[in-house]
Amino acid sequence: MKKITIAIDGFSSCGKSTMAKRLAAELGYVYVDTGAMYRAIALYMLKNNVDIHSEETVVSQLENVDIKLEYRDGAQCVILNGEDVSTQIRTNEVSMTASVTSAYKQVRAFLMDTQRNVAKTTSVIMDGRDIGTVVLKDATLKIYLTASAEVRARRRLAELAAKDETLIPEELAQKSIKELTALIRDKKQGKSSCCGGCAGCAMAGHCHPHTVKPADTAENKPEDTAPPIEEVRS
Ligand code: C5P
Repeated sequence: MKKITIAIDGFSSCGKSTMAKRLAAELGYVYVDTGAMYRAIALYMLKNNVDIHSEETVVSQLENVDIKLEYRDGAQCVILNGEDVSTQIRTNEVSMTASVTSAYKQVRAFLMDTQRNVAKTTSVIMDGRDIGTVVLKDATLKIYLTASAEVRARRRLAELAAKDETLIPEELAQKSIKELTALIRDKKQGKSSCCGGCAGCAMAGHCHPHTVKPADTAENKPEDTAPPIEEVRS
């Protein structure tokens, strides 16, 4: 069977991983959670008290890091130096650490090799920053997923609520959504310059950008979703 690679790019909290997981299940392809790999590196640094603000120190530790993705009972497990850390990588601390360490060039290069190797041998779906523009430049299909600032704010809030298992009162939720929406809009506007891996670059590349309606979820009601599917051929 012909090997297919699908790259899903786009801003955060648009539903990239939801889409990737569903597509992978439907098509029988391997889903590669690249965010989980960045999280595993972050967890290693935390566990070993590495100063994450020193790029040199973080990079010097990479030779001690071994990350594998394994599939157990249909679920993806992240193995860090032989230990299943799938649950440990889902904390806010790891999330914040990952956003610092994932900015280092050599950390990205380190993971890119692992990600490309998986895609060499099997049909894969990968999502995340740089996937369509750097990691899988020659992907069979590139999808660029977007959603309105408010939808992204709602999704992010729902993710947080799910993690903390706390019920957020409606009044606070409304306030937070407004604040998050404003934050997301500001961030988006600040990202207008070309960086080689941003959304603008993905759109401007040789891919066929798609605007896809995010998957329907309870926190993502139809009236809040992005514009309907529209295909733009370059
Ligand atoms: O997607 P997730 O929240 O699990 O990603 C964790 C961290 O890894 C984020 O800070 C994100 O910026 C980073 N990341 C990245 N490149 C990717 C996937 C995730 O820099 N392809």
